[in-house]
Amino acid sequence: MTIRQAITKAQTNLQPSNDARFDALLLAEHTFKLDKTQLHLQANMLVDPTHYFNLVARRAAGEPLQYILGSWEFYGLPFAVGLGVLIPRPETEMLVELALRNAQCMLNAELTIVDLCAGSGCIGLSIAHHLPHAQVHLVELSDAALPYLKQNAARYPNATVHHDDIFNYASSIAHCALVVSNPPYIATHELASLQAEVQHEPAMALDGGADGLDFYRKLAEIWLPRCDVLAVECGDGQAEDIVQLFGGGEILQDFNGIGRVVVAKREQV
Ligand code: GLN
Repeated sequence: MTIRQAITKAQTNLQPSNDARFDALLLAEHTFKLDKTQLHLQANMLVDPTHYFNLVARRAAGEPLQYILGSWEFYGLPFAVGLGVLIPRPETEMLVELALRNAQCMLNAELTIVDLCAGSGCIGLSIAHHLPHAQVHLVELSDAALPYLKQNAARYPNATVHHDDIFNYASSIAHCALVVSNPPYIATHELASLQAEVQHEPAMALDGGADGLDFYRKLAEIWLPRCDVLAVECGDGQAEDIVQLFGGGEILQDFNGIGRVVVAKREQV
């Protein structure tokens, strides 16, 4: 079978998903180890499609594309991902953008930055990449997420991974310049109604308690007094409540107009 025939068949198998062609192409690049251009140039090459069709079947069964590929791009950088770790999402890039903007205003060259509930590490490690003089500490409790976090962090000499919970780890840090976090923020009763792909993601990375705000309460109590700037991602409709919990802060909207990031600065609170 040629590459073109394999992709056409895969696309048919992946329908009715709107992303059928996109998924079929990305899985083909991955399987046949060709980039997008080579894939088109070599479309008539004969291949054994068995492994490709196995991956397509997993995708057709609802497994997230990112888990099948094993790596996903965030803020222009590659991150290892797989079962047990939250998939980096484009709206989270706003949090990195904002953290970098704040950190660049800070005069202290040896900034200490903490990423709580780090997951794959995409937030803290993107910051570590752009601020090579900062020391970035990434804190994650999940045993399943930890191997991905360690693998990703190994690329950044200024990043340190801590297998700990965000409350316990606080005793190691008296003060830091910046805390970033994308904590679990889905209300427990909403977990069951999330789309099929999200059901494959770890509940531990999603479940924010009865109203979804459990982690923000803890951040306000334990971490806000320890840092100059606290920047968090949140869910639809939560930003105002979080500003209340933090005793002040600025809300930034994502491209859908949803209040997605809250930043609290110490002088404001
Ligand atoms: N953004 C994720 C979602 O909507 C949730 C991530 C989280 O709980 N921090 O599925």
